[in-house]
Amino acid sequence: MGSFFNVVISRLPHKESLLYPPSHCSDCGYKIPPWKNVPVLSYLLLRGKCSKCGAKIHWHHLLVEVVTPILFVAIHLRYGFGSVIFFKYLVLMGFLIPIFFIDAFHQLILHVTSIPLIVIGLGFALMPGNDISILNALITAMISFTLLLGLAWFYTKVKKREGLGGGDLWLVTGIATFVGALALPWILLIASLLGIIYFFVGVRIKEQVFAFGPFIVLGTVLWILGLDRLAMPFMYP
Ligand SMILES: [Zn+2]
Repeated sequence: MGSFFNVVISRLPHKESLLYPPSHCSDCGYKIPPWKNVPVLSYLLLRGKCSKCGAKIHWHHLLVEVVTPILFVAIHLRYGFGSVIFFKYLVLMGFLIPIFFIDAFHQLILHVTSIPLIVIGLGFALMPGNDISILNALITAMISFTLLLGLAWFYTKVKKREGLGGGDLWLVTGIATFVGALALPWILLIASLLGIIYFFVGVRIKEQVFAFGPFIVLGTVLWILGLDRLAMPFMYP
């Protein structure tokens, strides 16, 4: 799955097919044979370089191949195996990983990666054994979409430039259908705090554009992997 996410991350922003051509060096076009395409191992053995032309292979290939199994196992440890909730968060994670990197690299959340989340989240909410009801999913999605749209409109009106991108809006709406009304405000709070920290630590130029999507993703991942337990006393005081 990590290898597939890497293909999505490298190709989707450039509107390239995910299936064809098979893995190749983006510099010299060298077709990578299966024995040089082993997740993690090949990257390390080849020291992150194409074995033919020596061009650097982007570090996201290694990172995603390492992080994906860790996150998938973490979901299993948290939610068991085979439950609706387990599969729900597995699917969500499968979308969030490519969204994180594509937005971080291109300041872009592709609709094809965010809007399907709304349909899938609502689909899961219809299944028995899900942690939130379909009504919860629907209302959370509608309210968060409306509020964020209003906020984006207000910001653009006052500041005369885009603050919250359209991509963020669809991403949050998609996540809303997965997590529901009790979780979404917390996720947005965590995302905002991480964004503010990043802004003060990492962004030097005040007017610099930076992607908010990765922070929404981080907030969601942290939440579904355990931060919700920390917030429990505040959720049900
Ligand atoms: Zn090459």
